[in-house]
Amino acid sequence: MDIHEYQAKELLSNFGVAVPPGALAYSPEQAAYRARELGGEKWIVKAQIHAGGRGKAGGVKLCANEHEIEAACEDMFGKKLVTHQTGPEGKGIYRVYVEGAVPIEQEYYLGFVMDRSSQRVMIVASAEGGMEIEEISASKPDSIVRSTVEPAVGLQNFQAREIAFNLGIAPGLIPQMVRTLQGCYRAFTDLDATMVEINPLVVTGDDRVIALDAKMTFDDNALFRHPQISELRDKSQEDPRESRAADRGLSYVGLDGKIGCIVNGAGLAMATMDTIMLAGGEPANFLDIGGGATPERVAKAFRLVMSDQNVQAVLVNIFAGINRCDWVADGVVQALKDVQVDVPVIVRLAGNNVEEGQKILAQSGLPIIRANTLMEAAERAVGAWQNDTTLGTQLKVAK
Ligand code: GDP
Ligand code: MN
Repeated sequence: MDIHEYQAKELLSNFGVAVPPGALAYSPEQAAYRARELGGEKWIVKAQIHAGGRGKAGGVKLCANEHEIEAACEDMFGKKLVTHQTGPEGKGIYRVYVEGAVPIEQEYYLGFVMDRSSQRVMIVASAEGGMEIEEISASKPDSIVRSTVEPAVGLQNFQAREIAFNLGIAPGLIPQMVRTLQGCYRAFTDLDATMVEINPLVVTGDDRVIALDAKMTFDDNALFRHPQISELRDKSQEDPRESRAADRGLSYVGLDGKIGCIVNGAGLAMATMDTIMLAGGEPANFLDIGGGATPERVAKAFRLVMSDQNVQAVLVNIFAGINRCDWVADGVVQALKDVQVDVPVIVRLAGNNVEEGQKILAQSGLPIIRANTLMEAAERAVGAWQNDTTLGTQLKVAK
């Protein structure tokens, strides 16, 4: 789960990371009022969306008076901001963060990520801040400092100092840098984050080390033990298909293809997507409905998959290990009676009681296309989708 910059800054500041004074606003008037409360002479107005690259896209504006703040906000509120991280549809701006402007002397990049190969938290830093890390690694790879943290002892002060030295931080600022690194690391581990990114971390003209931007992502599977973090979820920033799925306890990822997938088991769902690609199609989603595959779950899954307007065929791929194919087939038949599905449906069942299951599908009277193997199912799904307009109503499952 992602959170907003202002939320990440508040969390990080509780762990000792210095951030500029700032305040949240939901309207242009409120933003001006907030700036007055903050005091100072210059402010930065920042669109709060779950994506970076806002600066280049017009989502970060320097303002010198209330009039400029209101004007900057008028340009932002209610609009979709398109950055290189949002995709072409952009993300809606419903909140802005107003901060006292900071005189920047030098910008640094600082990131904490899970490094899968070492199975440790890795700190990635560079004195070439301001750019995205992808650009830094393409244009200035030698500037990147990497350091992995031994989980048994956590981030040690000597290690944090070494990172600061390697970044060329002035000796007098090293204690502030160590405090920042330690704060981010503790926030990362204590809150079950999967990513903390500060870009830029700046050294100011008056020798302070401050996080000017902050991004945090959390492990969804650990949110149950951090209710204060779960509360920060902002559905306006999520793919509506994925929010709906999360609310229903289904594991769903929206994609751009035309073939909807309903599968039990994450590994089988991945294999199903690969096989669709192999057969010349593209999956519209990843969906793992879990082990049970009860009629209710299958119906929920059909509703979810069909809520995507792009879906032109649905492939159901169920392996019944503990489950039974006849129960699953009942579930599919029931779901097709309950849910309006007006595209071809291809079902492949394997495992316990498969013959019984096939019989139920065949006798249902519904125009379900059956397949015995995954490859066959993928080919039929791709074929059905390609012929959709010609075969049309023949294949379509009538309500
Ligand atoms: P992003 O583009 O979404 O990553 O948003 P950032 O918060 O990183 O802001 C983009 C850029 O605006 C930063 O890299 C800074 O160069 C600039 N910026 C942000 N806050 C300040 C500030 O307080 N003072 C100055 N001078 N520049 C700022
Ligand atoms: Mn940034």
